[in-house]
Formats: sequence, C-alpha cells, structure tokens
Amino acid sequence: MSAAGSLEVDELVKLHRDHLWLHLTNHRAFESQEPPIMAEGNGFILKDIYGREYVDGLSGGVWAVNVGYGRDSIIQAIAGQLKKLPYYAGSMATPPYILLAQKLASLLPDLPKVYISNSGSEANEKSYKIARQYFSEKYPDKKKYKIIYRNRDYHGTTLGALASSGQQERKVKFGPLPEGFAAIPHALCYRCELGKCYPACNIDCARALETVIQREGEDSVAAVIVEPVTAGGGIIPPVAEYYPVLQEICRKYEVLLIMDEVVTGFGRTGRMFGHQHYAVEPDMITLAKGLASGYMPISATVARKSIFDQFLTELEDPTGYFRDISTFGGCAGASAAALENIRIIEDEKLAENSAQMGAYLLEGLKELEKYPVVGEVRGKGLLAGIELVEDKKSKKPLHETHLARIVAEAKQAGVIIGRMVRSVPDYNNVLYTAPPLIVTKEGIDRIV
Ligand code: PLP
Repeated sequence: MSAAGSLEVDELVKLHRDHLWLHLTNHRAFESQEPPIMAEGNGFILKDIYGREYVDGLSGGVWAVNVGYGRDSIIQAIAGQLKKLPYYAGSMATPPYILLAQKLASLLPDLPKVYISNSGSEANEKSYKIARQYFSEKYPDKKKYKIIYRNRDYHGTTLGALASSGQQERKVKFGPLPEGFAAIPHALCYRCELGKCYPACNIDCARALETVIQREGEDSVAAVIVEPVTAGGGIIPPVAEYYPVLQEICRKYEVLLIMDEVVTGFGRTGRMFGHQHYAVEPDMITLAKGLASGYMPISATVARKSIFDQFLTELEDPTGYFRDISTFGGCAGASAAALENIRIIEDEKLAENSAQMGAYLLEGLKELEKYPVVGEVRGKGLLAGIELVEDKKSKKPLHETHLARIVAEAKQAGVIIGRMVRSVPDYNNVLYTAPPLIVTKEGIDRIV
C-alpha cells in the first residue's frame, strides 16, 4: 500500500498520467520521468509516495506553509468550526470571520478594515476594484482608475492581476489583457534597469513613478502596487530609501499605495510584514499564503478607514457600496484556520526565528559568492536567492538548463529548492529557497 492511502503507487502514477493537468507544467516531462507526488509532511520535512524524504526549502512549493506541516491545533480549529457551521456566504459574518478581522486589524492598526477572499490574485483584484471605486465615489467627474506596477513583481493569475504583473513571459498567449496598467522599473541594483549605480543613482527607479504618472495623466492614476520584497521576480529587497521616495510621489498625486504581502506577510522576511523593514505606510495591503499557511485557502485585502468610509453612501444609492462578492470568501473554516495559524506565528515567535535563521541562511549562501558563477546572493529573512551568471564581469545569466540541473540534483539529494520562471533570458537565472519559518540550523545546513 502506498503512503497516499489505499492505492498502490503504480495506480496513482497511472491516474496522474491519465487525468491531471498540473499548474505550470509541461506534461511531456512525465512521458520519460515519474511524476513527483507528495504524500506527507511533518515540520519542514516532506515525504513523497515513493517513500523519499526531503527538506522543504520552498514551504509547500510556493512559499506558503509558514508554520510547517502537521499542526494539530490548526486541524482541530478547522474541524471544530466545520462541525459548528462550515459555511455561510461572505455577505453574512460568522464569529471566526469577525475575530480574524479584529486580529488582522490589531497587527496592522492603520488598516483596520478587512475584506476576505480566497487567493492572492483575488486579494489584489479586490484592491484594484476598491481603489477604482474609491476615486469614482470621491471624484465622480474624474477618471482616476489606472494601476501602476513594478517590473519583475508578480500579483497573480487572473486577468487583472496578470495585467498588473511585471513578468512579461507570464502574459504571453493570454492577451489581450485589460488596459489601464503601466509599469515602473524594477528595484534590483545588481541589474539596474536604468543603468545606474547605487547610491549615486538618486533612487531614480522609484522616482520614475512620477514620470509615469505624468505620462499617463496626473488625474488618471488610482494606485501603485508593489511587493515589499519582490519574490518570484528574483528575490529583490529594495534599498532603504526606495519606499519613502515612492510614498512621497504617491501622496503628491493622491495615488493609493498598495503593498502585496502575499509572500512577505506573516514572518517570511523576518518581521511580521515585509513593509515593516521600511519607513512606509501603505494605504492597502494584500495577504494570502502565510495567512493560513496553506491549511485552508484564504486571503485578505486590508485598507485604511478613510478608504472604507468613502463607501458609506446613502442607503438608497444602488451602486455606492462595494458591490463585490466571491462565494467562498470569508468561509468560517478558513477564518478559523487563519486565526490559529496567526496565534502560532506569534506565540512561537516565528517572525523572530525567520530573522535569525534567515541571517544564518544568508551567511551560508554568501559563502557561495566566491564561485565565479555566483553573481549575487540576496534575501531577507527566510526568503533568499542566488543569481547565477556565466561570469561575474559580463553578468550574463547562466543558462536555465544549469539551474534545472541544480534543482534536480538538490532534489536527488533530498532538498527541494526552486528557480525562477522559465523563458525569460533576463532573470530565469535565480535559484531560491524559502523554508517554513520553523526551520532549524540543521535544516538550513542541508539547504546550503
Ligand atoms: N502576489 C504574489 C506576490 C505572489 O507571489 C502570488 C503567487 O505566487 C500572488 C500574488 C497570487 O496568489 P495566488 O496564487 O494565491 O492567487
């Protein structure tokens, strides 16, 4: 019998080959290889159906399982809530939904209004809809609707979230995408898009926002969205001065600053939230992944009270309130999971562990910079990347086949790490790791 239950391994593999259509996968690969199928997890260790064990250097593949696997108290919280009341639509509250909103508001007191949905993409879409309607209520005569995003940032898979993502290859063959989105340069000094050098650059990558706002029309821009630390676009923590500059420009043009903390939230970068490393006060924040560590699908868009208040229009007004819904957003069971997950992160001081273990991880990885193919190692907390180059002088990205081999060999050796999305010659050359926040020095030693 297989680890997955009553099915034999061979049967599972056959069913996989016959029926599955996996995310981000060319199924041709499984004509010559056995498909990977995970069966169990405990702490930061995973086991596949073939009985092999791995250190999970990716927190569930997409940096989500912050508290690690096998958390009985989360499972009990979910089961207890499902017994009482599994579900009621998000237009009606349930106790865990209310308590979760209160908890998030206590962690982010400037953003006390909490809108719950199911995924990171949705949380971002909601933030765009909120920003657009906010300005439409406030300035009925203006068309202030455009969203500015940053190159290399990723904000999701739905068409609006994709249109606002700065990873061009993800958009290929899905167009035409919605209009009303424009890009600013990324914030990676190692490959400055403007060809400048820090600190003489005057943080022009952030100042470019002003040029873009003026080009798009001063009155037409509603919001800017950024990841506090770019994750999937190459592990990019901007320099300290970056966000104050961005924020100043936002305030000057009354543009809302949205921070996508889908990856960086809940301790990932060594603080509870990634933006807390910087002197910046976002107007909205989006949360997902680590909000319930993958035990249930849930996300949140949190906003300033002044934004919420704009939606308190006359009761007779049929379109003044936020007319948005998703069937499962606010599900009682998912809210219960998130509440217990956040309790664990706080009680076990996992953001602090992420800072300490993250420093240890970075120190270990920095050692690799002595090799000619390691261009730069960078990271914050338990979010780290290694940029691989043909040689340090030309900085020419190392071909993705080498990265694929490293990832495959690491897996053979019992460690799961990742590499950036394929087919982008510019930045498919970054390996990354983001283990669960409970990882120990021994776990990190194995990753390094
Ligand atoms: N925002 C960021 C920064 C992400 O990395 C992701 C997913 O990886 C998303 C948004 C989209 O989240 P989801 O896949 O839950 O829709």
